Formats: sequence, C-alpha cells, structure tokens
Amino acid sequence: MNVKIRVPRYEANGAITPVFQTYTVAITPTTTVLDALNQIKGHQDGTLAFRRSCRSAMCGSCGVMVNGRNRLACNTRVAELNSSEVSVNPLPGFPVIRDLVVDWDPFFAKDAVMLPYLISDQTRPDDGTERLQSPSDARQIDSPSSCIQCGCCSSACPVQWTNSEYYGPAALTRSYRFVEDSRDTAVKARLDIVGTETGVWRCHTIFNCTSDCPKGILNTENIQALKRKIMLSRLGLGRIEVRARVPESA
Ligand code: SF4
Repeated sequence: MNVKIRVPRYEANGAITPVFQTYTVAITPTTTVLDALNQIKGHQDGTLAFRRSCRSAMCGSCGVMVNGRNRLACNTRVAELNSSEVSVNPLPGFPVIRDLVVDWDPFFAKDAVMLPYLISDQTRPDDGTERLQSPSDARQIDSPSSCIQCGCCSSACPVQWTNSEYYGPAALTRSYRFVEDSRDTAVKARLDIVGTETGVWRCHTIFNCTSDCPKGILNTENIQALKRKIMLSRLGLGRIEVRARVPESA
C-alpha cells in the first residue's frame, strides 16, 4: 500500500514560510512514521532533516506533529492513521531550525530551572549509599519519572504558544516528580520556583498536555497538585497530603 507523506521544507537560512513537499512511500501494517521518514531520506531525498535516535519510544528525539497531533514518530504506525495522506510537521510552538528539526534550547533551559535532581539534607544511611523509599512512595513518582523529555506536551499547550516564558507542562511535571519524592528535602524551594507568574498559575487546565503525552503522564493533574500544594503551604497547612492521581498503567 502506498501513502503520501507531506512535510514542510523550511530553509536552513531561517525562512519562516515553508514549502510543502509530498513523497509517496510504500508501507506495511507495521511501518511507523519514522520508518517512512527514513525511507524518504534513504531512498528519495537525503536533504530531508529530522531527529531520531532510539526507535523505541525511550529517547524522546522524534516528537513531531502527525495529522494534527503531537506524537513520537517511532511508535506511530502509518496504517493506524487511516489516511492516504499523512502530514508531518515540526512540534508547534518550538522555533524551527530546518524541516522537522526544532530548537530544544528554550525547552531544556526551563527544565534546568526546575533543579532536576535529588536534593537532600539528610545524611546517607550508615549501612550503604541508598536512600530507600517505601513501595507506595516509589509508585507515586513512577509516572512522572517516566517522562522522556520529548516535548509533545509543552508543544501542545496553547498557553505556551502565546507566552514563551511559561514553564510548560514538561518542566512542571519534572518539578512535581521531585516535590513528590519522599527523599527530597527542597520542596519549599521547588514550590517557590513553580509558584511564580511563569509557573503553575498560567495553566488553564486545557488538558492538551495530558492527551498528547506518549507515556500517559497525567501532566494536568500534576500541575493541579502543585497548585494545591502551593496554596496549602502559603496557608501554613503544608502537612495536608495532596497528590496527583497515579495513572492505571503506572
Ligand atoms: Fe513527553 Fe510526556 Fe514527558 Fe511531556 S510529560 S515531555 S509529553 S513524555
């Protein structure tokens, strides 16, 4: 079966208006969008630019918009799109460098603001180097820890499209992952970071970030949990436990 793949060709010189190009690709039931792009690059047009690495939905490199939804090209089967013409576009809201390649610097700069590492003022246990968690505490951070930084959520957020300063769901879920970590002792500093005008209060609970996450992470709920934690902390009621729902698959 043949399918048409339509992609924008942005000039490397920064031209904003793309020229669209359509390629015809032979697919099988298991051909992914990434396979189709590889076919084009390998056999039809070596100048087509896109990112990819692991091919198994683990690295987050191949996030693109396919037929109007943000997805990983490597785990999206062309046949399941039920479309004779598939449009593949760069992630919206990100500056385009060329074709399907976007600039990740602003995205990872926001991630760095979240202090994306464990901070603990506790001394390590005498008998070893691990700080242990209970299974239920570990389960609480399983889902946000599975984020692969693909950017599909932040790119799907209309608030991010109109306000590039907004941290966005990926960075906020990253913060939630450490706020919810029973071993981390920097919760107040973390809540101060996300409780600013470029943080959680910009979220309008549109849920695009949740519906477009290829890992099933409940980004919107994580952001709402951060909001409640900030409010309780400001009211001096920080001991009340507020947690986002754990996805069924986690
Ligand atoms: Fe990608 Fe989901 Fe992580 Fe957002 S939360 S960056 S969509 S894996």
